[in-house]
Amino acid sequence: MSHYKRIESALVHGGLYGDPHTGAVNTPIYQTSTYEQDGLGKTRAGWEYSRTGNPTRAALEALIAELEQGSHGFAFASGLAAIAAVLHLFQSGDSVVISSNVYGGTFRILDKVFKQYGLSHVIADTADLDAVERAFTPDVKAILIESPANPLLTVTDIAAVAQIAKRHGALTIVDNTFMTPYLQRPLTLGADIAVHSATKYLGGHSDLLAGLVAVKTPELADRIHFIQNAVGAILPPSDAFLLIRSIKTLGVRMDRHVANAETIAARLQGHGAVARLFYPGLPRGPGYAVQQKQARNGGAMISFELTETYGVGRFFEALGLVALAESLGGVESLACHPATMTHAAIPKEIRDGVGITENLIRLSVGIENVEDIWEDLSQAIEGARG
Ligand SMILES: *Cc1c(COP(=O)(O)O)cnc(C)c1O
Repeated sequence: MSHYKRIESALVHGGLYGDPHTGAVNTPIYQTSTYEQDGLGKTRAGWEYSRTGNPTRAALEALIAELEQGSHGFAFASGLAAIAAVLHLFQSGDSVVISSNVYGGTFRILDKVFKQYGLSHVIADTADLDAVERAFTPDVKAILIESPANPLLTVTDIAAVAQIAKRHGALTIVDNTFMTPYLQRPLTLGADIAVHSATKYLGGHSDLLAGLVAVKTPELADRIHFIQNAVGAILPPSDAFLLIRSIKTLGVRMDRHVANAETIAARLQGHGAVARLFYPGLPRGPGYAVQQKQARNGGAMISFELTETYGVGRFFEALGLVALAESLGGVESLACHPATMTHAAIPKEIRDGVGITENLIRLSVGIENVEDIWEDLSQAIEGARG
């Protein structure tokens, strides 16, 4: 029986809190590859080999399962290792529907790796439920969505998509990296699997790579555990420890990230240099109603385009406090150029088709003082004027 009901407390106390052997309030780093057994088939506490299971990783896995309200959780070496493990559920001849703007690496692993083994993919505008319905051919065994999606922050109605998928006997997989379970819990909306690049907000300090999976049913848990052990891209115990430590402050970090992002988005909206602005927390913006229904708020990622008088190259060069870098979700503010960075793996025709233009700038709003972030963005916009 836990002594709390709310997610802010679960972030601090959830999973296998502490160490039952010593009372230590933190789960120790069990830096071991193997475990002594007392006789053939007689382990001391069920542990055999650390690819199969490790107590530090298990504490993290129990934590993500609890936060996402799933039956089990799994920790991997990176977000893509987690996505690869989930894609290993499928077979040659199967097909997966993906959102038209997903993380470039998710597109690449399907297009360049899994396609070789006969797993195909179909791209659909998952914000359009009729398009989702049409994408379901008999081969489709799953739909993999991001909401809000990367980098245009397009919002997909997770509950509605999960209902369509269920009717077609397919799984709903949600990459919940941009929201985290603090802002959105896909399994409670009907999804079967939530995946995370924990490298981002869950890790939160730009100092580790990790991936997490939470599944709704014990049956899916057995299959993912089999794949995790068989393929082996597990998260080491030291990184599992760091991630548990990071997740304890997720709530306070996200509150500041989001408050800063709401301020920056409101100011960009009124700025004469901004041609298009994408932020799902803007009232009256596309996707706002669905976002309000399924998530706590609009998160802390913002994308925008400058008008033609401004040069994106000059904008990035003029930035001072805000770093030009891949990745997102760390305490520091980052800006990136999706067309040549995070989404370069997507062919230009597809990028243009979905609106990932050469002028698009993606911001991961950090937890610094919002006035410092704004002053840096304003002076960089000024410096970008042609
Ligand atoms: C970064 C990212 C990934 C890939 O995760 P890695 O930890 O870099 O392997 C997957 N999905 C989304 C939405 C991401 O932002």
